Amino acid sequence: MAPLPPATLRLSVDTDALAHNWRALDTMSGSAEAGAAIKADAYGLGVATCLPALRDAGARAFFVAHWSEVPEAIAHVPAGQVSVLHGPSNAQDAAFARATGVKPVINSLAQARLWIDTGAGACDLMVDTGINRLGLSMHEIGDAAVAQLEIDTLMSHLACADEDSAMNAGQLVRFREAVAAIPARRLSLANSAGIALGPDYHFDVTRPGLSLYGGIQRREHEGVIRQVAQLQAALIQTREIAAGESVGYNATFTASKPMRIAVVCLGYADGFLRSWNGASLAFGSARLPILGKVSMDMVVVDLTAAPDLKEGDWVDVPYNLRNAAEHTGLSQYELLTVLGKRWQR
Ligand SMILES: *Cc1c(COP(=O)(O)O)cnc(C)c1O
Repeated sequence: MAPLPPATLRLSVDTDALAHNWRALDTMSGSAEAGAAIKADAYGLGVATCLPALRDAGARAFFVAHWSEVPEAIAHVPAGQVSVLHGPSNAQDAAFARATGVKPVINSLAQARLWIDTGAGACDLMVDTGINRLGLSMHEIGDAAVAQLEIDTLMSHLACADEDSAMNAGQLVRFREAVAAIPARRLSLANSAGIALGPDYHFDVTRPGLSLYGGIQRREHEGVIRQVAQLQAALIQTREIAAGESVGYNATFTASKPMRIAVVCLGYADGFLRSWNGASLAFGSARLPILGKVSMDMVVVDLTAAPDLKEGDWVDVPYNLRNAAEHTGLSQYELLTVLGKRWQR
């Protein structure tokens, strides 16, 4: 076997902060229990690291989106605790659900009939109360196929939980209508931001994702939710440039004085997109402004504030999600899931 390659990009997941965030969201969920959305490789931070920490903190209901995400999840938790949000589109999907023991989330009458015709069994049911994404429409909830399902968790998903929008209360009213019409063992409506909307939104199970991983969208989570992902990149070259010299593609930065600069092993292929142009990396409290454009594999920074840095030293990539979202215009979700494969996790 080839030896382990040396790392030049480090993504460390603070599993204590992750466990803390789950417990905080579980507490904020009141009498409901918090589950955990672990889709998209735990929002890019790695299921293999995050899922055991969430499980050990006490989470018992896990949500993935794709069937492809099932094997890694059930390596760590019982299959009966895993729900697959996209549900079964064909007999193969249904057979896979039965073979593994995970719960499909039924999202339409067609999926309901497929699940019944291929042998039924425990499932979850998603009702669309206004987001118009996946889920049974309100006018379909009385259908005979729905009555035949063995529903563990009846759920719906909020479109605007991160805003104080009238849409939230409207969706709550429609969810209650669905609850009155459809028998289920447990009920679930709130995502991370939905938990902050208060007890009316909690029901039996909440489904936080983003806030587990450090995302803060509402004031109720400020001072409670901790940063989980810590990112560091190595310097691969330092150089001195003279006044009048430019840096990077299209020469968008020109030095007005002699400068010491460094090339950092971090680029848009690593999810550090060009929307970071103009931001700074950091070394302790020293700010290292990015000079010129972000390249595929590199950025160049100004070492004026930390002149002793040299090749092989590590610098911090500021990944406070709220601040980063503000600078880049990316959502906190995108900032996490965009991180590429070259990070040593
Ligand atoms: C992704 C997802 C969640 C988690 O949402 P966050 O906003 O990340 O907390 C919950 N429920 C469903 C159906 C989802 O798709």
